[in-house]
Amino acid sequence: MYFNKEQMTVSLLESRALTGEQRDVSYLMELETDALLFPFLYESGLRGSVNYKPQELHGGWDSPLSHIRGTFTGHYLSACALLCRDGAYPLLKAKAEYLVEEIARCQAQNGGLWAFPIPEKYVWGVKEGTGFWAPLYVCHKVMMGLLDMGRYLGNQTAYRILEGCARWFEQFLEKVTPQELWKMMDFQESGGIMELWADLYAITGEERHLKLMRGFERKSLFEAMLEKRDVLTNMHANTTIPEIHGAARAYDVTGEERYLEIVKNYWDLAVTRRGMFATGGQTCGEVWTPMMRQSARLGEQNQEHCVVYNMIRLADYLLKFTGEKQYGDYIERNIINGIFSQTFYQSRTLDSYGESLIPDTGVVAYYQPLMAGGQKRWGRKTEDFWCCHCTAVQSNARLWEYIYYIRQDGVLISQYLPSKAHLKTPGGELDITMEREDSGVSCVEVTETAISRGERPMEDVYRIHITAGEAVSVPIFLRIPWWIKGEMKCFLNGVPFTGTMENGYLKLERAWKDETLTVVLPRGLHTWPLADEPDTVAILDGPTVLAGLIDGERILYGDKEKPEEFIKPHNERVWGSWTTTYKTFNQQNGFYLKPLNEVGRERYTVYFPIRPEKGQR
Ligand SMILES: [Zn+2]
Repeated sequence: MYFNKEQMTVSLLESRALTGEQRDVSYLMELETDALLFPFLYESGLRGSVNYKPQELHGGWDSPLSHIRGTFTGHYLSACALLCRDGAYPLLKAKAEYLVEEIARCQAQNGGLWAFPIPEKYVWGVKEGTGFWAPLYVCHKVMMGLLDMGRYLGNQTAYRILEGCARWFEQFLEKVTPQELWKMMDFQESGGIMELWADLYAITGEERHLKLMRGFERKSLFEAMLEKRDVLTNMHANTTIPEIHGAARAYDVTGEERYLEIVKNYWDLAVTRRGMFATGGQTCGEVWTPMMRQSARLGEQNQEHCVVYNMIRLADYLLKFTGEKQYGDYIERNIINGIFSQTFYQSRTLDSYGESLIPDTGVVAYYQPLMAGGQKRWGRKTEDFWCCHCTAVQSNARLWEYIYYIRQDGVLISQYLPSKAHLKTPGGELDITMEREDSGVSCVEVTETAISRGERPMEDVYRIHITAGEAVSVPIFLRIPWWIKGEMKCFLNGVPFTGTMENGYLKLERAWKDETLTVVLPRGLHTWPLADEPDTVAILDGPTVLAGLIDGERILYGDKEKPEEFIKPHNERVWGSWTTTYKTFNQQNGFYLKPLNEVGRERYTVYFPIRPEKGQR
């Protein structure tokens, strides 16, 4: 069994991950508390009069006219709790605390239990089979926000509200039979409500919260998973993933193997046997693609961001349970080609010179199109509030969670994301600072170094500084990424340091006191074929998927195993920095490529049919 979070504090350092976090904070600060609270206040009767004409209310799924109004506020609270832990971002914390106090006021006005931004009749409507949109999902998200405010920031008001909500649901369970509830869960998605009850049980240890957890197991799905039946093909992915989070957290808090089996079988069906796009996604139009048959599913609506976020969380659970490296590889691929690609976009031209040639910012792309000539469509700041808006503010708030894992036999460094951490390991306390070595070189300073680097470096170098009060003897496991080309190298205080290979990790043993590890990850170009169309491939630079800047399909000629024979760096050096773009060569009609996660609104193509030589089709 692995441990996490409770034994560590982690904060991000300069990187794309930190930029995402900072843009998230700016966005959350920008949103108006009046608009975030309006559905709660209006529902409770605390706001609304003939003379009151609300200004600046949200549109889209958070509009006062939407059946799932107020859902975003739950995600908002969760994001704030994750971001403001350990004293960070105090202004944002104050804003979130104010929201909690106001929701408490609404709950009191509603009679002390119901604290939600929608009427109770929406829940009963689902029981009767009428068409209210996902009320249990709304309730879950609000309770999730409150629970996170409690567990990350110690907010006692949030816990008190949650306690009342739990009582409402206890009464609810007395009024519905298990069969009726299963039918409701088969009819409308209910989010991760089971996971929430498991979380609450972990905090309170009260039997009644365990009973709630078991009450919200979705029988039809869990039975299918135990029988290893593929009921997932063409099924709405993001309905089921949070339900499996429920099983994962249930395993965490009860240790019952049945729950772990459900989670493992789900992963096997959803990922191992299904295959994935080069980006890490597996969905089209929000449903799972057929197993190993993705070519007919490339379209405008691949890879819903919610699925990216929730599958990363599922991989995180499994990494904690099993320690298997494949989950760290999956998380990395989905952070780089999902979260970085679909959230908080900002054009580079914004900070260079002149007017942007392309629109400059975007909050979230609901989908990541993978058809030839696709285009990301970015949600507006206050007019859309899709589900993916909701998960975007969370996904950028918890990137720190996937870096370090403390296990009984050592420390696992799973993600190479620059960060500062304090870890309470079984051997003693360690401080770790991980930074990425800047491969740029001053273009003004008189130096020999610039001459020695004539070409874009194809390696990622991380410096990991480890200190301890007293020397701590604990093994450190470094994930060996799936994409490295050649050997991963490691230096201790500048001297080559040999570790042992163990299940995809490099295990380094030593008494740590004040050491610097330098980790060199050689990068290269790869291709990643479609499972059912092996001669159609995506091209990756290390873990990063490249997008061809063209508006349709284009055949590339060459050896599909050797992309360096048909693409090469383009415009590779600008002032003191290396660029990330490529261009094709030896092709009839050349084009440029750039990392998919740097594409804003340009049309792009990710998959290319490859033919051995010109003239062959
Ligand atoms: Zn979504």
